[in-house]
Amino acid sequence: MSKKGRVFSGARPTGRQHLGNYLGAMKNYVALQKDYDCIYCIVDLHALTTLETTRDLKQNTFEMALDWLAAGIDPRESIVFIQSHVPQVTELSLILSMVSPLGKLTDLPTFKEKVRMQPNNVNLGLVSYPVLMTADIVLYETDIVPVGIDQASHIEFARETVRSFHYRYNTTVLKEPEIKLTEVPKVLGTDGQQKMSKSLNNHIELALTPEETTKVVMTMVTDPQRQRRTDPGNPDVCNVFSMHKVFSSPEEVEMINTECRRAGIGCVDCKKRFAANLNASLAPFREKRAALAQNPDEIWDILHDGANRARVIAEQTMVKVREAVGLP
Ligand code: SF4
Repeated sequence: MSKKGRVFSGARPTGRQHLGNYLGAMKNYVALQKDYDCIYCIVDLHALTTLETTRDLKQNTFEMALDWLAAGIDPRESIVFIQSHVPQVTELSLILSMVSPLGKLTDLPTFKEKVRMQPNNVNLGLVSYPVLMTADIVLYETDIVPVGIDQASHIEFARETVRSFHYRYNTTVLKEPEIKLTEVPKVLGTDGQQKMSKSLNNHIELALTPEETTKVVMTMVTDPQRQRRTDPGNPDVCNVFSMHKVFSSPEEVEMINTECRRAGIGCVDCKKRFAANLNASLAPFREKRAALAQNPDEIWDILHDGANRARVIAEQTMVKVREAVGLP
């Protein structure tokens, strides 16, 4: 059966993935493979804009690839590769920067946020981040980019850049990508307050052992008003309950919803139940991950093979781009 078009998505090499990564991106990556030709890229060059040290970059890239593959990204169906292994992306990024207004780049909310986060390292790469992202997308003749609403402005920027390029060089060689707005669930961390993130250390790694997982789950913050076992709770404000809705059966969710409100179930028991369901759900992933980890060379081979396939598409695009620009 022919597929509906080509999807591109990239993610920074953040190492071992957590529940937030899984529910927010990886699950969708796996599902999209059914209907689209997918290209999934580990964007190591993007990571350089914020990293102070690259000491763990290689290992983090490897761990993330391992998690992606274990979760069901199929390298026979999809192209999985590392951004810097296809150098054409930097060439295209430089060419596109000639049609990218500086004022527009510095006006993007994401840039302002980065400046706020790292005021002592406002480097040129940080400003031109959306240009490199545009190059990533258009280099592979992408039809569709699945993004959450917070990233939509970057894809709109990519679309405008393609139009500017076409206008400047009187050509139509690049494909204007479509945005596929994806509902990215906001997965809260164990603190129950902030988005799950490694840097906040409020995350639950997918590759933990069942025992380690249970230990982390037991630290999760629940309904702050529920001080004692005998106090009725409110599942609507409890992150453990939100997680139950994803990982537990509808009957169990219903039972907790009722019993919590009349103090019929305690938080310790409720968390144990969530941990057990989470561990059961992650068991196939963990089994596959352990098997893949036995042979690291195979992971690197998959990434190199992905880069070889990506490079073929990239070079086809660059031949047209160089000609359109009039490079001698
Ligand atoms: Fe949350 Fe469960 Fe405790 Fe209710 S019983 S407050 S849902 S952890």
